[in-house]
Amino acid sequence: MFHRLQVIESEWPFITTDGKTCYDDFYKKIQDVSVNRVCVSCSCIDHSRTAGTVLDIDVELLRPLQIDSHEVPFLFSCGVECLDSESIMIDRLSLSLSPETSHRMYLCVSCHKHLCTGQLPPKLSPIIAGSAVNLPTFSHWS
Ligand SMILES: [Zn+2]
Repeated sequence: MFHRLQVIESEWPFITTDGKTCYDDFYKKIQDVSVNRVCVSCSCIDHSRTAGTVLDIDVELLRPLQIDSHEVPFLFSCGVECLDSESIMIDRLSLSLSPETSHRMYLCVSCHKHLCTGQLPPKLSPIIAGSAVNLPTFSHWS
């Protein structure tokens, strides 16, 4: 291992490609990681284009995230009428506008897999988890 490091060090500085190719590679890599993708369900953040799925808003898919709005002592609307009318709590940072100006959402692989089977994902956004039916309620706050 140490010998390998010595060889690498002796070859420093490396022969580089031309500046334009180097800049193009850098620019592409920066673009790949410059967009935060926040999961609609667990609020995890990813930068990879292939790590999760971007979908149109799907109320039926998000139905497990529906909560009793009377149990939550704060407003949690996200501005999407079909989700707000069903009291579906999501992380609104996951929403984006598509070119057709309709909302789209990002789901990580794990949450997408669980929601597709109608199950609550094992990891939820802290806000959603605190409001879920089987977790402590906020009724003692009122
Ligand atoms: Zn997720």
